Amino acid sequence: MVLLPARVGALAAGLCRGLARTSHRISAVRRCNLAACSSKYVLSQIHPMWQQPIAVPGGHCQSPIDIVVRKSVFDSALKPLATDYDPETCQQIWNNGYSFLVEYDDSADKSTLKGGPLQDQFRLCQFHFHWGESNAWGSEHTVDRRLFPAELHLVHWNSDKYSLFEEAVSGDNGLAVIGVFLKVGKRHEGLQKLVDALPAIRHKGSVVEFTRFDPACLLPSNTEDYWTYHGSLTTPPLTESVTWIVMKQHIEVSHDQLAVFRSLLFTSAEEEVQKSMVNNFRVQQPLCGRTVRSSFTSFLQEAASADVNKQPH
Ligand SMILES: [Zn+2]
Repeated sequence: MVLLPARVGALAAGLCRGLARTSHRISAVRRCNLAACSSKYVLSQIHPMWQQPIAVPGGHCQSPIDIVVRKSVFDSALKPLATDYDPETCQQIWNNGYSFLVEYDDSADKSTLKGGPLQDQFRLCQFHFHWGESNAWGSEHTVDRRLFPAELHLVHWNSDKYSLFEEAVSGDNGLAVIGVFLKVGKRHEGLQKLVDALPAIRHKGSVVEFTRFDPACLLPSNTEDYWTYHGSLTTPPLTESVTWIVMKQHIEVSHDQLAVFRSLLFTSAEEEVQKSMVNNFRVQQPLCGRTVRSSFTSFLQEAASADVNKQPH
């Protein structure tokens, strides 16, 4: 076991604070419309993290969202992503009571993200997942209301502009998060090393050393096609400092691999009633006039732009 460093504690407080309670009404929640999702009652069904009033700075650029393909706007200026990850910077994995985080040494520009919609260089600090209690839901973002069983988030901060993650998290253009949807299918060989480590961090607060893991193995083969928009963290402090880059192509993992995610616990070893770590996603947020840009064109988009051209301006 590795002791919890102070910096990790700060991340815990800032990024993914939360206790736990699972919901039996979650499927109804995921099928509701945005107006229903924003009601306090429905929020309270998800997780105690969302039961308290939360101060949201601004509040009009929140995440996650539903990506409506025909309303997304193709931007030919969007370049391919350039990830350069050093597996040697991988340090540890820990259960923070809401998800599990694989953390990277971000004291230098060793594992970086550039390109795509980004002007600056960003450093990888951690990745984590969100997942459901069944394969029918679990992702935070959706595409044309389609739910995925899980979603990977690779969190990076702007090291050209800031010297610490803690500064970037609330700063302008501070963070860039890559989102990757997970679908159930073939076993993912790259993910398996991570899955094998999870039993050691079953309880909230447990941390183990985890090294030499290349997060690039979790990216889809096509990283040229993505949607991007301006949004927020999906856990407190919910700061609107995030450039979201959501991959069009999903990755496949097996049902058994996701079952190991679900064997983790929201609760610490001392707690009497143990609660499974499932449904650790935030409900969807209104778009509030934001534009989702895409790095690719699709038939649906072309049809949409043809419709626009027919209308008088
Ligand atoms: Zn996340």
